[in-house]
Amino acid sequence: MKPPPFAYSVPATVAEAVELLAAHAEVEPRVLAGGQSLIPLMNFRLAQPGHLVDLRNIAELSAIRLDGNALVIGAMTRQSEVEHSPEVALAAPLLAEAIGLAAHPPIRNLGTVGGNIAHADPAAELPAAVLALDGELVAVGPDGTRTIAAADFLRGPFSTALAADELLTEIRLPRRDLVGVRSGYAFVEFSRVFGNFAIVGVAALVELDGDRIRRAALALTGVAPTAVRAHAAERVLTGAAPDPAAVAAAAEAAVAGTSPSGDVHASATTRTVLARTYVRRALDLAISRARDER
Ligand SMILES: Cc1cc2nc3c(=O)[nH]c(=O)nc-3n(C[C@H](O)[C@H](O)[C@H](O)COP(=O)(O)OP(=O)(O)OC[C@H]3O[C@@H](n4cnc5c(N)ncnc54)[C@H](O)[C@@H]3O)c2cc1C
Repeated sequence: MKPPPFAYSVPATVAEAVELLAAHAEVEPRVLAGGQSLIPLMNFRLAQPGHLVDLRNIAELSAIRLDGNALVIGAMTRQSEVEHSPEVALAAPLLAEAIGLAAHPPIRNLGTVGGNIAHADPAAELPAAVLALDGELVAVGPDGTRTIAAADFLRGPFSTALAADELLTEIRLPRRDLVGVRSGYAFVEFSRVFGNFAIVGVAALVELDGDRIRRAALALTGVAPTAVRAHAAERVLTGAAPDPAAVAAAAEAAVAGTSPSGDVHASATTRTVLARTYVRRALDLAISRARDER
């Protein structure tokens, strides 16, 4: 199956890419990153952009760096590079774990972190990880640069805060001061086949201070039109002992705050049951890691 005809540009700078999107606005141009979602959509005629602006030659978009208290990942950085990056392993191992569950290595070798987040598939792992990590997305358009909190970036299934003439350029993940704190993370999911999109996925971060949970962050996929934070569950955990009772109460709070829809993959009830189970699993693993048990 072949896509409908389109024009194609390969700009060398972000400014040039933004200009191209504006110049060809009448044919609904699209940015091309790894092409792992966009090209199939075009082949099935679910997207018919008249012009593709391929970001592959914009070197500044493919880098992982530290900037003060933030880990900064260029939007065009390939998922496999982020998955295996020593900087990411230290500063945001949750993201690396989430990427390891997304699709398969050949797809991750081409697919980019920015493309996955900009695509905003409600079942995708990366948006949930970035949400749990309090990440920010940097967008550049004709009016300049703006920084958008992950919670404001995700608007709905396949819908984000990006305007049609804007590029996602960076993902910024704040590095927390964890001196003297034991911290753990986990991304767990249920999917019918390993590497397939998750039916339900859970990102968890836990910080322990003595015998109490100092802070917890939880984000879920598959229970709402976008990845969502489970703030009620986080409140249940904060200040509690990291024990089975707190984990069970947090799982109840997490599902009480969602009303998933059923679809061909799973009914609403199945998603609710899975969410409760996988929140518990994620928290158990994150707490064990914080205690250095696993
Ligand atoms: C068989 C298969 C299985 C998969 N399984 C999973 C899975 O389990 N979990 C998962 O999360 N994903 C999965 N994916 C999707 C994969 O992760 C894609 O790589 C990703 O969704 C899109 O990244 P990309 O770089 O290929 O973007 P593209 O396909 O090039 O672009 C996707 C969309 O984002 C836009 N876009 C891309 N980059 C930017 C940018 N910098 N600024 C603005 N807009 C941009 C494009 O215009 C397009 O609309 C799967 C894909 C395949 C083919």
